[in-house]
Amino acid sequence: MNQDGPLILLVEDEPQLRRYLRVTLTPHGYRLLEAATAKEGELMAASHHPDLILMDLGLPDQDGLVLTRRLREWCAAPIIVVSARGQEKDKIQALDEGADDYLTKPFGSGELLARIRVALRHVNRDPAVAAAPVFELGNWRIDQTRREVTVAGQQVHLTPNEYKLLVTLVKHAGMVLTHHQLLKEVWGSVQGAQPHYLRVYMAQLRQKLEVEPARPRHLITEPGVGYRLRTE
Ligand code: CA
Repeated sequence: MNQDGPLILLVEDEPQLRRYLRVTLTPHGYRLLEAATAKEGELMAASHHPDLILMDLGLPDQDGLVLTRRLREWCAAPIIVVSARGQEKDKIQALDEGADDYLTKPFGSGELLARIRVALRHVNRDPAVAAAPVFELGNWRIDQTRREVTVAGQQVHLTPNEYKLLVTLVKHAGMVLTHHQLLKEVWGSVQGAQPHYLRVYMAQLRQKLEVEPARPRHLITEPGVGYRLRTE
């Protein structure tokens, strides 16, 4: 076993799911800490300083949402919420409270591993690289110094709000952003800004950037929650 692999704290009360995650993650070099209650999870986060936390929302002693909020006050590790279907409100709230991403149960191991890689990449990112003005994805090229977007070498004209929306997604590439987060970033305030603005601007961005706007490859809708720039 890899003694230096990233340490993941799993806060999950279902033994079967813990076992599944253990079997899935350890062969990839991740080390796993397991907590079956919110209280245990909080103690382990404090004593072991995990690199990442996988958080179930339905815990026996406390809502995972409350624990997310509490951890966020002092713990910088990315938190990926793992929640059952049909809890959009909880997921949104968890993201707005400081969780970095979510996965809906049931999920595949490939999806889980990809989300973990993205979250850890965001943490480990070299500040110099993070500030790099040029972001490339497939044949898209977003040059923030020149405020220039090209697709396959062709310059694309974006309105200021379309551009801001795209750059916000780029900054959080691979991660989900809630409607609330996007409205705040792009319009500065959620007051007066409406979720349907996002739908409109996202549709325009897809028209301008995606090969098949109706079946976007990168500008992905997370139903009921928000949007994600898919990078894998
Ligand atoms: Ca549970």
